[in-house]
Amino acid sequence: MDPGCHPGVCCNPSIQAPLVNWLQDGIAALGPDCHPGVWCAGVPKKGGRHPNPLGSIGYLGATPARSSLVTSSDGIGRPNPPPLVLAGASDSNNEAEDERSALWRLIWKLKVPPKLIHFTWRMCVNILAVKKSLYSKHCCPSPRCSFCAEEEEDIDHAIFYCEWARKWWEESGFGELINEAVGETWPDRVGWVLKHLEEDERGRFLTIAWAIWTVRNQSLFEESPPLPDFVFTGFTKMVADYRAYANSELYKSRLVSDVGGNSWTPPRAGTFKINTDAHLMGNGEVGLGAVARDMAGTIIWVGSKRVLAEWEVEVAEARAAIFGLEVALARGMANITLESDALNLVKAVKNPEIARTPFGLCVEDLRISLNLFSSSNVSHVKRGGNTVAHFIARMCETEGDEIVLGSDFPQAIMALADLDLI
Ligand SMILES: [Zn+2]
Repeated sequence: MDPGCHPGVCCNPSIQAPLVNWLQDGIAALGPDCHPGVWCAGVPKKGGRHPNPLGSIGYLGATPARSSLVTSSDGIGRPNPPPLVLAGASDSNNEAEDERSALWRLIWKLKVPPKLIHFTWRMCVNILAVKKSLYSKHCCPSPRCSFCAEEEEDIDHAIFYCEWARKWWEESGFGELINEAVGETWPDRVGWVLKHLEEDERGRFLTIAWAIWTVRNQSLFEESPPLPDFVFTGFTKMVADYRAYANSELYKSRLVSDVGGNSWTPPRAGTFKINTDAHLMGNGEVGLGAVARDMAGTIIWVGSKRVLAEWEVEVAEARAAIFGLEVALARGMANITLESDALNLVKAVKNPEIARTPFGLCVEDLRISLNLFSSSNVSHVKRGGNTVAHFIARMCETEGDEIVLGSDFPQAIMALADLDLI
């Protein structure tokens, strides 16, 4: 691992920034009577000016089962509050980081569609386009909620506390739990709720949040939005179907059949393929290599890095893949296929189970990075199809070096790339 890495903590710089903002945004949003660690948002006012856009939702399910892993502090069902998190207190900040790492592990373990994971990530890093944030960027005339018009619309309000959203939570059986949720920031409270639910209920909870957000958008932006009941039913069914699929033999057999061919194949039109490889030098140094190519096989960029690290082979392969995705993100690529000759890595990324090992944590980082793209795939290719990345992993000659080229590629790389196309 890099010197700055900590097991269980995502070290992708593009993820880190919003994680830090969670805390700062939460502190900045506190009112004069607010106290960190104490949830003070009131239940939304009744009688909003806008009619409830939703209908009956009896199919959403009964009162959710709570996790038996969580102990009560007072013996009557009220949970222990999470530790207070104060800005500037390093121990508390570490605890907050640990809490959020635990939250991500919990979310990644869920057998739910990747799109729902992606929505959850966007929700938790506070990048959904709610009116309060649009207003602060001068993109809309008012920060007030379009449904109740009584409060500013932040993510809390839009998904949990607006009157119309509230109804769905009440009818789905999660209303009481949401009332009890404590935590300084929005993701803290989401984490609190998820930890207090049984495995099956976590997916249902996030599905309802996703459906509420979708219905909100459709109600605001579409001339004839579909009936909310259809959206909720559709989302619930889609997640249930995915869960059944993820538990099926079909899914497991797909994992086994992930072995790729012996030659490089181009990606689909409009997408890029990123091949990555790692090279253990034998002196405690590791070379990481990545190359992006388009459907014609043309090299778009190459990236190479040499680091001092005592990594196992599979960890090094995972770090090479993360490095490749970082370069792709920095270069604005949106639709990619990540390809590696490390079959264990490819299988691990596709497997919903999480191993609590250094390799497992790298795989988690990799999944988070993959979800930052509009679309992403992972594929395996045998070494014969990964020769360009294999060469690039050896390009840097000195520990600490990092090279990213967008043109003027070395002749040897061009020659290897041409061989792939023969
Ligand atoms: Zn509202």
